Amino acid sequence: MNMISGVINIKGKVKGKNLAVISGVHGTEICGVAAIKNLLPNINIIRGTVTFIFANEKAIRDKKRFVDKDLNRLFVKSSQLSSEQKRSYEYQRARELKGILRKCNALLDIHSSATPKAKPFVICEPRSFKVARYLPFSIVSNGWDKIQHGGTDYFVNKNGGQGICVECGYNFDPSAIKKAKSAVLSFLKYFGAVNGRKLTVRKQKLFTVKKMYMTKQNFKPAKHFKDFEFVKEGSLIGFDGGVPVKIKSDGGVVFVRGRTKPKEEAFLFGTPGKL
Ligand SMILES: [Zn+2]
Repeated sequence: MNMISGVINIKGKVKGKNLAVISGVHGTEICGVAAIKNLLPNINIIRGTVTFIFANEKAIRDKKRFVDKDLNRLFVKSSQLSSEQKRSYEYQRARELKGILRKCNALLDIHSSATPKAKPFVICEPRSFKVARYLPFSIVSNGWDKIQHGGTDYFVNKNGGQGICVECGYNFDPSAIKKAKSAVLSFLKYFGAVNGRKLTVRKQKLFTVKKMYMTKQNFKPAKHFKDFEFVKEGSLIGFDGGVPVKIKSDGGVVFVRGRTKPKEEAFLFGTPGKL
């Protein structure tokens, strides 16, 4: 039994991998929470241990992305965090969850987006491309660990496991819950924790993120950009404090967002590739 609140631990009869499935790292991204609640009553774990986690419990309850600080930036060493981050509710929660994540062989972290029609995709590093092939997504994106520290998948990768994050589409789209459920079952089947599901190899494209644009003052997008939208060298992406921000080479952009403060994440730039 695991005595940490919001954590459900199920052991199979046969020895196997130590897996974790995490939802609600961002409290508004409810598709993972719904998917786990939906799966739990009937799930039959035959091998290894699976820990299901409702991550940011307070934010899930309050229907907020986070209470004090973004939980998904806190899975780093304490010395890398600001004193403000260390005073947050999320810091305490990250400390509790780190103990579980440190020991797991593989993690599936379920996210979704506040943008209607957001494209679903997988985030993982090359060591997890093999399992990603069986997850129900047409885009696999890597390179995130290098430019965005402190996520759950980053932390698991750092500790020698396989950290996989899935973005299931729009928060309130019922198909996001379906996608999340399918991802959980395929993940568990791949690592031998459940029986009876046929794994299908998916046709997928690769997108490698290369750079995160951080605001100097603020950011106003020049137009609405779809995730993974192709941009040509010299394209205008937006304005930072009124100054044009242009792309230096051909590629694609992800998560282009308006921002009001300095040192905020405004968008990611990357390049398409083959798996
Ligand atoms: Zn999220």
